[in-house]
Amino acid sequence: MKINGGSWNPWHGCRKLSEGCRHCYVYRIDSQHEKDASEIKKNVSSFHLPISKNRQGEYKYPSGTEFATCFTSDFFLEEADGWRPDVWRIIKERSDCKFFIITKRIDRFLHCIPDDWGDGYDNVMICVTAENQKMADYRLPIYLNLPIKSKGIICEPLLERIDLLPYLTSEILSVTAGGESGLDARECRYDWVLSIREQCIKANVSFSYHQTGARLIKDGRLYRVPREKQHEQAARAGIDFTANRAYSEEDL
Ligand code: SF4
Repeated sequence: MKINGGSWNPWHGCRKLSEGCRHCYVYRIDSQHEKDASEIKKNVSSFHLPISKNRQGEYKYPSGTEFATCFTSDFFLEEADGWRPDVWRIIKERSDCKFFIITKRIDRFLHCIPDDWGDGYDNVMICVTAENQKMADYRLPIYLNLPIKSKGIICEPLLERIDLLPYLTSEILSVTAGGESGLDARECRYDWVLSIREQCIKANVSFSYHQTGARLIKDGRLYRVPREKQHEQAARAGIDFTANRAYSEEDL
């Protein structure tokens, strides 16, 4: 999943929830600035970012902007329940822009949507993280039953081989896989990544290899990949797959 636009973090900080959170990058980056990421705070200065205007009264962010929304927290965090209604209003006002949300708290979704949500806002994509089989088996059956117009699955940090195929219905637009970054990163095996890719090809769902992570195991060898090379190396693998194109068995 590639987002061409801005970051919008109406609140910052989070509570760790599952194995994928163990080395959360928000905690890691905050600790480098002697901040505590477990303190969840409204970002007052950027809360209204998508509807901010210039002196001519025009939106600063043009039509078509894609916002990575709430990437320094979790959109469905309980502590943000009081702030979220205003965020939905902003998202609705900017129906000419797109908003991408990734969550580990999809089980809270129905408590958190606005009254006029219906079968979903056209301009919102909500993706769910499935870092291991346990979380895939818990979150994805819930997810598949929810009224969301654009859905995707994020297997990052990928912590083990995952059988995703039962969840790769025609509703799923994309799957993204990647390893973990940071000093304490857990290993990610390339064959786990390839397995997800293969399942996506079988289900004709787009697949993207986002980053290798800091510790990549390939052909039985451990590679330590520096942070600045992790995205580049994944891209160089050339294994992304776009659904709805003609493909052959050679893709597998
Ligand atoms: S849900 Fe996301 S932001 Fe929150 S602790 Fe886990 S990894 Fe970090």
